[in-house]
Amino acid sequence: METPLCTACKRRPAVYKRTYSGELLCARCTRKALHRAVKRSIARLGLLKPRQKILVPLASSNPLGSLVLASALSEIEEQYGSRVILGVPEGIDASPPRGVSVAVVRVSPREPPERGDPVACWRHDRRWSLRAARILGADAVLLPLTRTDLNLLLLEALLRGEPQALSEALHSLAWTKPPIASGLWRVEGELVAAYAAISGVEAPPGCVKRLSAAKEVYYSAASGRPELEYSPTKSLDALAAAASGMYPVCIECGGYASPGESTCRYCSRYTLNVSILSLRE
Ligand SMILES: [Zn+2]
Ligand SMILES: [Zn+2]
Repeated sequence: METPLCTACKRRPAVYKRTYSGELLCARCTRKALHRAVKRSIARLGLLKPRQKILVPLASSNPLGSLVLASALSEIEEQYGSRVILGVPEGIDASPPRGVSVAVVRVSPREPPERGDPVACWRHDRRWSLRAARILGADAVLLPLTRTDLNLLLLEALLRGEPQALSEALHSLAWTKPPIASGLWRVEGELVAAYAAISGVEAPPGCVKRLSAAKEVYYSAASGRPELEYSPTKSLDALAAAASGMYPVCIECGGYASPGESTCRYCSRYTLNVSILSLRE
């Protein structure tokens, strides 16, 4: 059987079928699709301007996504003379993508007490990377949250009946210093995996182990398809945003906290120590 051609460039052989759009893509067009989606994810954050310093934490929740995001960002930001720093917790062996600086960060404890709980893991990642970003003087923190992750986190919050967890599904938390946002907001998880396979990116194991309660409901809502369309993603974002103003935000992780509290129930459970051990260009 003949290899089908890429439906985007119509020249090179296709290596990947993008479920969400139905396109057949060659390696080069897969990279292009990812770059486009990352650009759209960060367009309204003001990061596409000269000399920005962006921290991408090697998130325990999605280490592969961090490497893919840092790799795409360094190529996108090259023309702006911006610097992409991958924050790697001490003791984790990860080879950084080309053109990306590496900050080795001592994070203690390395994982939250509720290891495996997606909300706890993402809050922990935000908490240490915000601290590291302040030490490094970064203009923004970009997390490797794909729209697949964000949809799952939103359903998780609803199914748990935990409205404070709705903040996990937001595109950006503009109130933190520096601001923190999802660099893969317009990217489906599947595209990240395809890009990683094509580029030979490999990641250390992550923190989110337990199947989230939301997974089955998510798949049934997506009628067997692994990825939701962009439009429901947008309405889900609006739903998560509707809760803002109803809750105070945690001074540690930026997520919604309970009324009257300045720290959320996840962050108040443990003390976190963060320091930068080295910064390599
Ligand atoms: Zn192509
Ligand atoms: Zn918190």
